[in-house]
Amino acid sequence: MLPFVRSDLARLTAYTPNPGHGQETVSGVTEIDRCDANECSYDLPLALKQKLAMAYWESIEANRYPDGSHGDLRQLIAEYVCESADRSHVAAENISIGNGSDELIRSILIATCSNGEGSILVANPTFSMYAILAQTLGIPVVSVERNETDFSIDLEAAQQALDRSQNPPVRVVFVVHPNSPTANPLTDAELDWLRSLPDTVLVVVDEAYFEFSQQTVVSERPSNWVVLRTFSKAFRLAAHRLGYAIADPDLTAVLEKIRLPYNLPSFSQAALRAALLHRSEILSTISEIQQERDRMWREFSTLPHLRLWPSSSNFIYLRSTDDTLSNEALARKLFVAGTLVRHTGGGLRITVGSPEENTRTLERLRAILDR
Ligand SMILES: *Cc1c(COP(=O)(O)O)cnc(C)c1O
Repeated sequence: MLPFVRSDLARLTAYTPNPGHGQETVSGVTEIDRCDANECSYDLPLALKQKLAMAYWESIEANRYPDGSHGDLRQLIAEYVCESADRSHVAAENISIGNGSDELIRSILIATCSNGEGSILVANPTFSMYAILAQTLGIPVVSVERNETDFSIDLEAAQQALDRSQNPPVRVVFVVHPNSPTANPLTDAELDWLRSLPDTVLVVVDEAYFEFSQQTVVSERPSNWVVLRTFSKAFRLAAHRLGYAIADPDLTAVLEKIRLPYNLPSFSQAALRAALLHRSEILSTISEIQQERDRMWREFSTLPHLRLWPSSSNFIYLRSTDDTLSNEALARKLFVAGTLVRHTGGGLRITVGSPEENTRTLERLRAILDR
């Protein structure tokens, strides 16, 4: 380890993005179905990509810094949020835009816990970036478990962890709605528990998969809750790194203070504008994805040696119940057969792709399990 680097970073393992990239030749299969990152498997409509290329041609000055104020974009996002949540009063001042919601997670951690002031609470298995980003900032992570029947949070353990945490106290609770990798939405009991938390604790409800679940807490959001959303999933803009937070203006003002001044490249801003303008077309794949998810789930449930959990999202979580076939081995066999999935949390998270990809996933899984 370099002598000038913080000693605690030696113990930290970095998130491995796109583990399948560059491995195509290893397996000998040339076309890999990438069902590991929960992206939409459809690129933007071609006409829209052409418009974007034109925008680069006509109106983006590559030599100039991007707009660092995001004024009109915050307004456009606020309008989209209101249209998709009843009774919500969300305005531009309630929105902060990040370079992916990952940036917002980091800004929230800096705003609440750094300088030794707080720790965070997560319930595993869940999205790993909360803990990874906290550790890079030297912020302690308190973890509790979930019930394996439905992956709801062990609320008794969570409350105890909260009560016991003193030095530093838990300042932020992170939940995903629906959770990744397990695809379950928050239950009434979980929501009630979150509502019961004191206003000294910030509740982060990550709704990365909102467009697939159509479940949101935006309409009821108390002032100590922040909702995170992303354009990386249903909006098909993962390449552009765009996410947003919905919160009280006091908190968005703090997030704006923390973010880098030019966090959104001009080309990503143009993509966001175009995507919001054409959202009905972009989001039109959602019903197909939901139907495909249900088809895959029904077909998976006929396969031997699998345990499956219901999904409110664009992916399915499952585990091998065959003692002679570990989940890691199952993921590797699927990869060798041509489907890349995510092995995480002691199971496999499989993204719902195009109908053709899903049929191949199903056939490959059947061939492995029916041996
Ligand atoms: C995919 C995902 C995100 C999105 O992150 P971006 O940085 O916006 O791409 C955030 N939270 C969860 C739970 C996710 O699964």
